[in-house]
Order: sequence, then C-alpha cells, then structure tokens
Amino acid sequence: MTLINIDRSNPDQFCRYKMPRLVAKVERCRNKKDRKTIVVNLKEIAASLNRPAAYPLEYFGCELGAQAMIDSKNDRYIVKGAHDAHRLQEVLDGFITKFVLCQNCNNPTTALQVYPKKNTIEKKCTACGNSCIVDMKHKLTSYILNNPPKLELRKIPGLKRVNGVGVEVPAESVDEYLRMSFELGPQPEIIMGPTFCDFFAALWRIVRLPVIIVVIVFIVHKCCE
Ligand SMILES: [Zn+2]
Repeated sequence: MTLINIDRSNPDQFCRYKMPRLVAKVERCRNKKDRKTIVVNLKEIAASLNRPAAYPLEYFGCELGAQAMIDSKNDRYIVKGAHDAHRLQEVLDGFITKFVLCQNCNNPTTALQVYPKKNTIEKKCTACGNSCIVDMKHKLTSYILNNPPKLELRKIPGLKRVNGVGVEVPAESVDEYLRMSFELGPQPEIIMGPTFCDFFAALWRIVRLPVIIVVIVFIVHKCCE
C-alpha cells in the first residue's frame, strides 16, 4: 500500500498526514452503459481523512456527473462508468481541499459540524482552532446536511439517552463526551446522573407518608392518654 500526503500540493515527504494512494478497478461489461468503477480502498482513504466514506464517494458522483453507490453487502464503493485512478485521485484532491483541509493551517485535522436548521456546515480545526463554513454551493453539502456524521454513543461506556431531553454521561466520561461534541457538532445536552443526595431525596419521597401517619398516630395516642 503506497502512502501519499493528504495534501498532495505539499511536497514534504516527512509530512505526517498520509493516506493510501487511490486504487480503482473498472468492471468491464459487454454493454458500455453498465460499466462501473470500484474504488477499492475508499474506506481506508476515508478513515485517513476522518470522514465517512460516503462523502468522497458522493463527491465523485457530483464532480463526474455519475451515479455513485455503496454496495454495503459486499462493502464496495462504486462509481458508474469507467474512471481511472489518476482522475479519481485528482477529484479527491478537490474534496480534500474543500471538505478536509483547514483553511488556516492547511492540516487535515478538521471535523465537520453540521447545522441542518441553519443550513450550514462548519469545518473546525482541532489543531489551530480555526473554523470556517464550507462552500455551501457545492452539491455535496445537501448530502452532508441530510447525512451528518453519526454520533457513536457506544464508544462511551455508561452513556444513556434520556428520552428526547439529552443524555446521561458518567462523570469520568464528560471530557470524552465534550470532545466528541467538538468533533461531531452539537450533541444532546448532558443531564447529570443521580447523586447521593438524589438517593436520599428519592428514599424520603417513598417513606414520608408512612412516617407522617406514624407520627400523627403517636401524637393522637399521647393526647388520649
Ligand atoms: Zn487549522
């Protein structure tokens, strides 16, 4: 597997931000119309870019005016028509410039924050803190708005969703959760889990009625003596 710089305009061979060189395979068919190109290592490339593989795939579709699809059963990323790896790599450069590289420090250390209500997608850099709105005129943005990066709740042990209100995060995972919010965009509000005081409050709510009854009975009994 050949590794190349994510920012291919950067000639520094020691640059630490690398991705696999794109490998494509054209599936020939008798009928020219049925030809398709499999981007063999798109999953690995997308992982290096910290983006879902569907984003660069959809970008290929937009730029090449071809249908792009995921064959999830066989884990294959397909662009209709015959496209060679060099051309796809060039198109990928465009995706990287627009949706991955930080405008300020040029590093690929960014995450997309998606705001469907505001109709904006922000590219936020975790290295320099710069944040900018991506070119919302590009067709890919509507795909990203409809398919924002998914929050993987299972990554945080003990995290519980509280119906429609927010999430309960164990105290030791709050930092991790906030970091995830930074990477993936605003997440549900944190609702603090029950504390020791809450335990006694709940206990009091259960026992207060019997206690009051016992006290009243005791007082009445004393008065009647
Ligand atoms: Zn930056």
